[in-house]
Amino acid sequence: MNTIEKTEKYVMKTYNRYPVSFVKGKGCYLYDEKGREYLDMLAGIAVCNLGHCHPEVTEAICNQAKTLIHTSNLFHIKPQAELARLICENSFGEKVFFCNSGAEANEGAIKLARRYAFEKGKKGYEIIAFKNSFHGRTFASVSVTGQGKYNEGFGPMLTGVRFAEFNNIDSVKEIVSEKTCGIIVEPIQGEGGIIPATVEFLKGLRNIADEIDAILIFDEVQTGIGRTGKLFAYQHYGVEPDVMTLAKALGNGVPIGAIVAKGKAATVLKPGLHASTFGGNFLATAAGIKVIENVSQKDFLKSVEEKGKYLQSKLIELKKEFPHIIEKVRGTGLMVGAVCKIKCGKIVEKALKKGLIINCTAGNVIRFAPPLIITTKDIDRGIEILRNVLTELKEEE
Ligand code: PLP
Repeated sequence: MNTIEKTEKYVMKTYNRYPVSFVKGKGCYLYDEKGREYLDMLAGIAVCNLGHCHPEVTEAICNQAKTLIHTSNLFHIKPQAELARLICENSFGEKVFFCNSGAEANEGAIKLARRYAFEKGKKGYEIIAFKNSFHGRTFASVSVTGQGKYNEGFGPMLTGVRFAEFNNIDSVKEIVSEKTCGIIVEPIQGEGGIIPATVEFLKGLRNIADEIDAILIFDEVQTGIGRTGKLFAYQHYGVEPDVMTLAKALGNGVPIGAIVAKGKAATVLKPGLHASTFGGNFLATAAGIKVIENVSQKDFLKSVEEKGKYLQSKLIELKKEFPHIIEKVRGTGLMVGAVCKIKCGKIVEKALKKGLIINCTAGNVIRFAPPLIITTKDIDRGIEILRNVLTELKEEE
């Protein structure tokens, strides 16, 4: 049996997988079992921000694996302490809790908001979340996810979640009350179709959270770790949350998540209130240190911003060539979406056949989340493949 057959037989079919099995990766390139090369403009869905098998990350993982992998959080963990320091010193954060995924980080952040209200003696346990959002697949995180398709048939969802319109502060004002204990929002909705929040909206949420003493949570699972051209997306907005959740690129592929908190939120979770067996273990945090050390460099972040603009300008050229397919281009840094007038699954499939990895989100948005180390030459190569795909589509009409 080959890998595809084995997967079909033994792995739960929770994904519709493309018929490709990669065996090797280097930088922005992946190689399949036949040795065929693919340009990766998705980075494992915004995970491998430093590219595949980045030498420093790989070396850190190998060295750590030879020394010590796991002890549990009953003891102090040197790389965990160092990664927490790096995150805090490069953000608004004062304290970090480590876990293993984005959903788990959001789960913990929601617990934190409720516990804060409880300790304050507030009546509130309601969380305000947003339509079209995505926060993960665990019960609390899917309960605050504002897209019905993710929770249909799994009800009842967590009680006390209320949804407002993204980028519409009046819709938040309509449902906020003394019962509200937290607000959770993505600075740029990722799975929802790469939709950036406006500055006024995030500032408005900050004001509301302050007025009612609720915890403002920014879900930076997808936008964090340099993806948008700043280390964290909130830094574009001049608005700081009380809590930020991270995962995806924090380990460049090694599973890790984090809850970053400041001020009133930083000391809510005390011994016995929240925990994770694997959270922040030696292996994952050794990788995380190398990630933050590299991505937080000013020049590196500047290059992400520049390459993001370059990618958008090239996509706008494609939009002019194929106005019946591409409607608009949006995004920040190297988190870019090309909104299509058609469903884009076929575009993604055709691109893959031609050696380009991209993805379709929200049904009609081509998502680009390449490794942040991508060069403009590789961007040109990706655009050329996409141009061929769109030309083919046009000919098929
Ligand atoms: N939050 C956001 C904004 C995400 O984009 C995702 C995953 O796509 C998650 C949370 C869930 O992260 P994970 O799949 O690591 O649980």
